Amino acid sequence: VLPADCPPDVERLGRHTWTFLHTTASYFPPQPSQHQKSSMLGLLRALPTLYPCGVCADHLGQYMKTHPPEAAVEKGREALEGWLCNVHNEVNERLGKDKFNCANVPQRWRDGWADGHCDP
Ligand code: FAD
Repeated sequence: VLPADCPPDVERLGRHTWTFLHTTASYFPPQPSQHQKSSMLGLLRALPTLYPCGVCADHLGQYMKTHPPEAAVEKGREALEGWLCNVHNEVNERLGKDKFNCANVPQRWRDGWADGHCDP
């Protein structure tokens, strides 16, 4: 494992980016304003251009052609959480990792687990 003060490799960059994206989706309003919707779309649409892992960015751009985020963003938090979970699961599958149960997204990224082990 790289020391914490080293530039991120693809794994660390990915972990931190997923943390940001899933957490942001889990705090996206259930009924977003037009400004919130267009800001979220700008964020997501920028990733295939700017994400600093070329292979990852290319895959994401291809995925977003067949699975555009617009409808999910339009519907609000729950739909966006689901869309992003599916994006991540597509990467998990490609990398040979287990699929995540998307029903657990709110517990993983906002509320904490029902058994209380994340409670402060
Ligand atoms: P991560 O996959 O980083 O996941 C972090 C945590 O998220 C997990 O511990 C779990 O609690 C939770 N989680 C897992 N799946 C889901 C889900 N579906 N929904 C919600 N939460 C979930 N790496 C490559 O080698 N090749 C690529 O093409 C590639 N593309 C990427 C594209 C993007 C947009 C991003 C953000 C990352 C990409 N990565 C890619 C990195 C890769 O996805 C992982 O982040 C990295 O391999 C580290 O994996 P990890 O096992 O630590 O867990």
